[in-house]
Amino acid sequence: MCGMRKTGQENGLLGACLLIMRIEVPRKAEKIIDALQEHGYDAYVVGGCVRDSLLHRSPADWDITTSATPAEVKKIFPRTVDTGIQHGTVTVLIEKEGFEVTTYRIDGEYEDSRHPKEVIFTPDLKEDLRRRDFTINAMAYNHRTGLVDIFGGVEDLKNKVVRCVGDPGERFTEDALRILRAVRFSAQLGFSIEEKTAGAARELGETLEKISAERIQTELVKLLVSPHPQYLKKAWELGLTKIFLWEFDKAMETPQENPHHCYNVGEHTLKAMEAVKADRILRLTLLFHDLGKVETRTRDEEGIDHFHGHPAQSEKIARIVLKRLRFDNDTINKVGKLVYWHECPWQAAPRSVRRALSKTGTELFPLLLEVRRGDIMAQSTYHRKEKLEWLDRLGEIYEEILRKKECVSIKDLAVSGRDLIQAGMKPGKEIGETLDRFLDIVLENPEKNTKEYLLSLL
Ligand code: ATP
Ligand code: MG
Repeated sequence: MCGMRKTGQENGLLGACLLIMRIEVPRKAEKIIDALQEHGYDAYVVGGCVRDSLLHRSPADWDITTSATPAEVKKIFPRTVDTGIQHGTVTVLIEKEGFEVTTYRIDGEYEDSRHPKEVIFTPDLKEDLRRRDFTINAMAYNHRTGLVDIFGGVEDLKNKVVRCVGDPGERFTEDALRILRAVRFSAQLGFSIEEKTAGAARELGETLEKISAERIQTELVKLLVSPHPQYLKKAWELGLTKIFLWEFDKAMETPQENPHHCYNVGEHTLKAMEAVKADRILRLTLLFHDLGKVETRTRDEEGIDHFHGHPAQSEKIARIVLKRLRFDNDTINKVGKLVYWHECPWQAAPRSVRRALSKTGTELFPLLLEVRRGDIMAQSTYHRKEKLEWLDRLGEIYEEILRKKECVSIKDLAVSGRDLIQAGMKPGKEIGETLDRFLDIVLENPEKNTKEYLLSLL
């Protein structure tokens, strides 16, 4: 944000505070803005890309806002796609790269905390900025005018706060998703949520139930893969998780009186997510890995809590919740499997690891090691050194198995179903059973994986 100077200059049309500074706009986005201006329209980059540029982060995409209507935009650019024409959005293609160009708009009256009844185009940039969710997302920029910051976005960036544009209660009533977006942005940026904004979020948190699972999923994933996944706790404090992830609320109430632990299940979950890299599958796995402890907890005579069978229960919960939030099957299956095996209940010995690999597959195994590490790091320090040594050893053995290309699945066997048929076996379930038996032998003794030896067993 350095090199900025407030001019106090008042622009009649905007009545806004303009800041002299320069943002590096990519050449193609600039080309679009120039073309629109040459045709007599206003155009700016807007929203997330302005926010991220001011924070010296590289924006994911560059959105453009303009006074031109979609029809006018389409007249200027030879290649466009009608991505959200009813909301005024046209994607302009410049050398195969797409830029969303949206007409300045006012959202009409809102129905049921979700949808504006209608979208009205306006010639006024200020009106367009006013409908946006947070001050830090409501700034626009072009080289001609500089930064347009009507609602104090720069100030809020400096103070690291997420604040609604206008009255938070009204803004959250218009669209309840914004409540979760506030937490998501605070997690992405490490910002706090301004007091009145947080107050309205708490008050209106329950209206999130009107929001579609898909929209919740998008914001939840962004929160989880952010630098601060533990800010999920804010969503809990504001009473939001109880609407879409009540299983987590129960975990926040589940103690773990056990030498291996120093947090309750919910706090441990937050720490574990924080302890792994920002990968969608990893973070989701750690979100769910212990939720099954809520139902499986038993306390013995010495007052120690046990959680027998919790991985299977956690897997069940993971699948239910992921399905409820409309995740794709590939994600559900990967996370389900990782949650089920998250304890890596194997000895650090080659034959155990080969057996493990035959169950998890070689693809998920390295992720599983990361899951386990995150889990250990979020436990008490009791036996931590030993736990990590064991985990490192598992990793070394895994590498060794890969290096030696040892057989860990039916498809790695030196003998195939076709070989068995050629050797005189009848097609049918006996083939599968035989291959299973061969795999069992080879997992114990990799050197026995030769065609000659295996066929000799028939
Ligand atoms: P990201 O880096 O995640 O894409 P972003 O700020 O670009 O962050 P988007 O969800 O892509 O976020 O939205 C683009 C812009 O549109 C926002 O910066 C904001 O100005 C506006 N916006 C998006 N969703 C809403 C909403 N629900 N209510 C009001 N304004 C919104
Ligand atoms: Mg965006």
